[in-house]
Formats: sequence, C-alpha cells, structure tokens
Amino acid sequence: MNFAIAIHGGAGNINRKNYSPEQIREYEAKLAESLQAGFDILEKGGTAIDATVASVTVMEDSPLFNAGVGGVFADNAMVELDACIMDGKTLNAGGITTVHKIKNPIEGALRVMEDSPHTLLSGNGAELFVYQKGLKLVPNKYFHTKKRYEQFKKAQEKQKIMVDHSMGTVGAVAIDLSGNLAAATSTGGMTNKAFGRVSDTSIVGAGNYANNNTCAISGTGTGDQFIKSVFAHDVSSQMEYGRKSLEEAGKSSLKKLASLGGHGGFVAIDHRGSIHIDFNSTGMFRGFKNKSETFIAIF
Ligand code: ASP
Repeated sequence: MNFAIAIHGGAGNINRKNYSPEQIREYEAKLAESLQAGFDILEKGGTAIDATVASVTVMEDSPLFNAGVGGVFADNAMVELDACIMDGKTLNAGGITTVHKIKNPIEGALRVMEDSPHTLLSGNGAELFVYQKGLKLVPNKYFHTKKRYEQFKKAQEKQKIMVDHSMGTVGAVAIDLSGNLAAATSTGGMTNKAFGRVSDTSIVGAGNYANNNTCAISGTGTGDQFIKSVFAHDVSSQMEYGRKSLEEAGKSSLKKLASLGGHGGFVAIDHRGSIHIDFNSTGMFRGFKNKSETFIAIF
C-alpha cells in the first residue's frame, strides 16, 4: 500500500501581494514540518489516525494558523476551539466544540473518539472529560496572539463576522500501510463569531469525514455552508452510491457549496491512495507527501 498524507492550513482570500517573501517561507516551512511529522509515523508503519493527529498538532502549536495557538476570537473576546477526528476503518469519530482550555483540541477529539461512548462533546463538559483523561488544560490567554486580537477589534468595528480574517483552519488526511484512512481537522472558527457557535470542523460529515470504502476528507472555508451541504459526507456519498471518482465527487460538492454562497476547499485521499486537493477560493495553504513526491503550495 502506498501510504500518504495531505494537509491544509486554511483556504480563503489568500493573495500573494499580502504576504512578504519571508512570511511565505515561514508558512511553507511549517507546512513542511507538519507533513513530515505525519509522514514519519506512516513510514514506520504507524496508523493514519496517529499521523493525522501529529500533523494537525504541529499546526495547532503554531501561531500562523487559526487552530490552537493563534485561534481567532469569538464575540465574547475569547478563543473558542473546535476539532474532529474520524477513523475510516471503523467509522468511529470524536469531536469537541466551543472549548476554551484544551491545549491541543485534536488530542481532545481523539480522547472523545477513543474513550467516550459519545461522538461530540461541547464546552465545560468536553474540558472536564479530557482533563479526566489526562490532557492538559491551559488558560484561554495561552491561545491569544496580537494579530488575531487586532483582527477581532476590526471585525467588531465593522460589526462583521470575518471568515477572510480567519484563514488558517488546519486539517490532515492520511492512508497508512494497512490501507486505512483517517481525517482530522481543527479550528478557531471565524473572527467575531457568536459565542457558542459550532463549526463544520467539529461535525462528522460536514468539515471532516473518513470511510475506508471511499475517502478521507478535511475541509476549510465558510463553515455554515459546509454544514448545510454536509460537505465531506456528500463527497463520500457520491463516491459510494454514485460511483464517482474522488475528483468528480469533490468538484460536484464544491459546486453545491458555491450554490449556497459558500467558499473554501478541501484535501482528500481515496481508498486507493490517490490524493485530491481543490478549492474555489483564491488560495489555500496546502500540501501532500508520499514516497515519491512532496508538494507544498499556497496560491
Ligand atoms: N470552517 C471554519 C469555520 O467555519 C473556518 C475555516 O475553515 O476557515 O469555523
């Protein structure tokens, strides 16, 4: 089996003119580090689940992305985080939403998947659960960055919910040596979103889905339309019931997303190990790595 990993660090109105060459290098280096973290695990025979967690963790720990440290602010001036993980072999999944203190939200989602009879935990209950499972809690300030706070202030002045200020949701999909698929996604959501708002990222089948019969997929963009079009599951369903290829299914689901006024993109791997990345926004932080190729791009 040809193991592989694909990642994204958010899609949106990403134009080269808004980034200095140094900033571009910084993003590319972090994407490369994230890819390598997942790839190393796959190469040693590790699982797709562990690989996606490792890749997402690298980006959660970086202030460059809208997940973990550097997450955007909700309208209550707090960083509220969401994440989801799914195992394509068992269709087991775990998500956490609207949490303020879980240092690595993707680890929290993993604990829900592995140790809870439930699939999606929110707020205080999610924090208590993962704390009892031994994960680290941190004060909300741990996630705050000056850049995100300034964006929040601007959004408040304009009384807008800003998705284009919120680029940097992160995600990873992988296929391991045994042919198992997994998807993991983590976000701070949208700048100035309503306190308590739940993202597509945390919802199985909306921003994150994996099924060994079809594909693993992680999305990013205007989450409310991803929820309404049940985006990730829509891609998988078109493959399963409509016998479409990943590429055909992805194109059709992106069209549906656009018809609802949504934009963004996704990274995906099908059950044969073919990678497909697509977006209808101007850019997406993205990359993939398999035994023969490493690819990283932004614009
Ligand atoms: N999908 C995320 C959300 O709506 C945001 C993003 O991907 O940039 O919360």
